Amino acid sequence: MAVVDSHIHSEGRSVEDLRFMAKNGIEKAVTCAFYPIEPRFPETLIDLARKLTEFEPMRGESAGMKIYSAIGIHPRCIPPDWQKVLEFIEGYSGYIAIGEIGLEKGSDEEKEILKAQILLAKKLDIPVIIHTPKKNKELILEKTLEILDTVSFPEDLALIDHNSLKTVKTVLDKGYWAGITVQPGKLSVEEAVKIVEEFGDEKLIANSDTGFSESDMLAVMKFFDACKNERVAKKNADEFFGI
Ligand SMILES: [Zn+2]
Repeated sequence: MAVVDSHIHSEGRSVEDLRFMAKNGIEKAVTCAFYPIEPRFPETLIDLARKLTEFEPMRGESAGMKIYSAIGIHPRCIPPDWQKVLEFIEGYSGYIAIGEIGLEKGSDEEKEILKAQILLAKKLDIPVIIHTPKKNKELILEKTLEILDTVSFPEDLALIDHNSLKTVKTVLDKGYWAGITVQPGKLSVEEAVKIVEEFGDEKLIANSDTGFSESDMLAVMKFFDACKNERVAKKNADEFFGI
């Protein structure tokens, strides 16, 4: 059985790592935009988007993994003149979603940028991958949901990621897809399985968020091995992204 890792940062992994993932059943992955230092120019993120769509799928292919790309402005790497990045994205192609986006601290600037990206996704009729932070997760989630409400964003096109046992119900009750990230410091395999048992598998999507920091590249496969839930490890991601 092959699974999908719905949220990785392939740039932070070598071709050998990607091959290791593919050989262990991670057949497809969605690589998300994130720049590990604060960009000094909007062009940094524009070139990052180009790299994620033009170069990363090629590296995936050589490793035996199908890589799809999500591009956008992560709240921890906002460049000056960020509107230029969105103008570029609007005229660009080769990506399947806008992400990862979201709020980190919940500042007015972050909110403005998140809203602009959600509006763009709505206009383009494509999915969004929305991050929730480690700190103040519940409070920031509330603010994020308010913004989605304000723009009447289609529930089926939003994946709210990095849920905890505490946030997953709120997300599902609102009708959004809920990401469960199995990674040290986020969820253990056992916690992820518990979430599926407790809340059902209809709109949950598993991922590893593997990339630049310490993580378990095989997290989605380990989750699948523990519960054999094909929907959460593969089918829901296929449906949400249309891949
Ligand atoms: Zn991420």
